[in-house]
Amino acid sequence: MELTDRNSASRGATGVRKTMPLGWLLAESRPHVVRSMESWIRVANSEVQMIGYKEISSQEDMEVLLNKMAGFHDSLTKEFHIINRAYVLPDHCMVMGFRFDGQLLVQSQLPPYALELVCSNILELHINSPEGYWSAGGKVRIIGRSVEKAVELNFDKAMKIVTERLFYCERSDWLGHRAFLGSEVPSVDAVAASKIEGKWRQCSVCSDAWEEEDRICFSLCPGCGRLTECPSA
Ligand SMILES: [Zn+2]
Repeated sequence: MELTDRNSASRGATGVRKTMPLGWLLAESRPHVVRSMESWIRVANSEVQMIGYKEISSQEDMEVLLNKMAGFHDSLTKEFHIINRAYVLPDHCMVMGFRFDGQLLVQSQLPPYALELVCSNILELHINSPEGYWSAGGKVRIIGRSVEKAVELNFDKAMKIVTERLFYCERSDWLGHRAFLGSEVPSVDAVAASKIEGKWRQCSVCSDAWEEEDRICFSLCPGCGRLTECPSA
C-alpha cells in the first residue's frame, strides 16, 4: 500500500518513505495506540534525552572526561558539524529559533580512540588549526549571563569551544578517513520516535512513519518536520 506523499518538501535528507507495513496500519486502529496530542508530547519529552550520551555537568565530570581521553594527547578533530536551529522556510519566512548546536568527532592514538562530542548552544568558538593536539583542558564555570553555566574546552591553542551543555559518547570504532557524523546534529529538544517494523519508525508527536537506517539515531520526521530521537536505533 502506498503512503500518501503529503509533505515531501520537509523530508529529511536521510529519511526515505516508500510503503507503510501492513502491521503498522493494523496497529493504528488499536485503541491503545490512540493518544491525545498532549500525551504524545508528554511521552516524547520523557522518553528521550540524549540516550547513550554522558553530560558534563560539573568540574568532576570534566576531569573524568579528560582522564578518559588521556588529556586528549595525540588526538585531532576529524569532523565538526555545526547547525543553526533557526532557518528560512521555502516561503521566505524566518523561523527564529537561533541556536548553534555542534557535533564533533575527535580521534586519538590512545584508547578509547574516538569520541563524539555534542554541544548544545555554542556560546563561543575559535578554530585556529587542524593539527593534532598535545593536550586539552576543560572548565565548568558559572557565567550568569544569558545562560547560568558554561562548559569550556581548550585544545592547545588550536581550538576553543564554550557551550551551554556538553555531551559525549565513546565511538571507539569511528576510525579511518571516511565521514562518520550523520546529517542531523543530536539535540536536547528532539522528540521520541519508536521503531515499528524493519527500518520503519514512527514520530510520537504526529504519528507519521518513515524508513530510516538502523544506525541513525536522530532523524527528521517527514510529517511534522521535528527532529526525532529513536532510543532503540
Ligand atoms: Zn512528526
